[in-house]
Amino acid sequence: MLRVRFAPSPTGYLHIGSARTFIFNWLYARRNGGTMVLRLDDTDIERNTQASIDSIFDGLNWLNLSWDEFYRQSDRLDLHRAAAARILDQGLAYRDFTPATDSNAEEKAFDGPAWRSNPGQREMSKQDSDARAAAGEPFVIRFRVPRDPGRTVTFNDSVYGEQTKACEDIEDFALLRSNGMPTYHLASCADDADLRISHIIRGQDHLTNTFKHVLIFQALDAAVPQFAHLPLLIAPDGAKLSKRKHGPVVSVTTYRDAGFLPHSYVNFLCLLGWSPKDNREQMTRQEIVDIFSFEGINRSNAVVNFTETDPIDPKALWLNSQHLRSLPVAEILPAVTATLIAAGLAPLADPAHYARVVDLIRARYTTLLDFATKGRPYFAADFPIEPAALEKLDVPGARELLRDLAARLEADPVFTEATVEQHLRALATERGVKAGVLINGSRAALTGQAVGPSAFHLFTAAGRERSIARLKAVSR
Ligand code: GLU
Repeated sequence: MLRVRFAPSPTGYLHIGSARTFIFNWLYARRNGGTMVLRLDDTDIERNTQASIDSIFDGLNWLNLSWDEFYRQSDRLDLHRAAAARILDQGLAYRDFTPATDSNAEEKAFDGPAWRSNPGQREMSKQDSDARAAAGEPFVIRFRVPRDPGRTVTFNDSVYGEQTKACEDIEDFALLRSNGMPTYHLASCADDADLRISHIIRGQDHLTNTFKHVLIFQALDAAVPQFAHLPLLIAPDGAKLSKRKHGPVVSVTTYRDAGFLPHSYVNFLCLLGWSPKDNREQMTRQEIVDIFSFEGINRSNAVVNFTETDPIDPKALWLNSQHLRSLPVAEILPAVTATLIAAGLAPLADPAHYARVVDLIRARYTTLLDFATKGRPYFAADFPIEPAALEKLDVPGARELLRDLAARLEADPVFTEATVEQHLRALATERGVKAGVLINGSRAALTGQAVGPSAFHLFTAAGRERSIARLKAVSR
């Protein structure tokens, strides 16, 4: 049974790297009929925040992917402690009574020259250790990393290949802190084992942790999952992407707020470190699910492009414009509606008409925000007239022609693209002017813009009353 998990720590907002990890897990699960587990790694009580939990869910919900099971590590502390006890009972871990400055330091520093363990602790007899614990002395439980000469830990990463590390290069890492809280290594592995996670897909920054994890899985007598580490995301200058240094670029909400369709962002993130055999870029969700595999994941760092002034990667923007125009219109409508409402506008009342109008205008748009800005004339009574449109209206005779066109439309109860075109062309012929004068003038009057969809489509998009009123408004 294939089971994967995405395990964010709620210590900051959902960032681009985490979103990508989530998506790759999701894809792998969906591709292979597996189960997707969402696990909140919330045992670091000092650094967890509710705001961060909210931001993670906000981001994940926006991506509009799903998960099948949900767990919080803080609900599972007993399981973690029992795992530590089991490892301790087998002699594969030991108590370390060396006082540390704080419980976080317990995970890292060792005193003295032998950096792999604190002096006198690993060697302590079980009797002494039990007695000191029984007397209430605080202790950390540390993994007893095998020290027989030449001993190594090995695993085969699906992306980075065979990985081996000498045990002498691994310190006796902490499993349980003196305050009874599990470390990341213990909680993660105890949960992965208990939740029967078969594949661990996560950022490359965890590659070196994996040696410790293999030791824990073995100590727990659990099957060692298959690992797949994802290449690092870097800035154009080669620096590792970081919240501190690169700010908005790394936040998922930056893209959401810039008017991205969730799927465009998903598509963009997939291409950060993965590519299909045929190097296709624009893909539907189903297409990506159908071809996703570990073989397409590169080992080299993936560059996210942005500049000082623009946090949006141009490729992401291009993908967004492509998806905006090619997804079934029904799929983008909810996002368009949300954008309009957020801008104080309302979607059109008649759903079929609304869908037609969105379909008509979307081909020229790059982000959802365009629907509320460039698209304003389609959804609001008032809109600005651009200078280029004004030029079309100021062609000699144009405003009078538009006034006469309005009169003819008013006289005809039938209002279709065909009837509008008939009236417009007839008027042009009668007056001996090019139809273009009326066509361009109409577009300027109906939308305030000099370029846009076919003018005849614009009439039906605006509807009879509005079209007539707008023609009249510019011919006063
Ligand atoms: N909570 C860890 C993190 O956010 C999870 C790492 C892992 O996938 O094991 O980095």
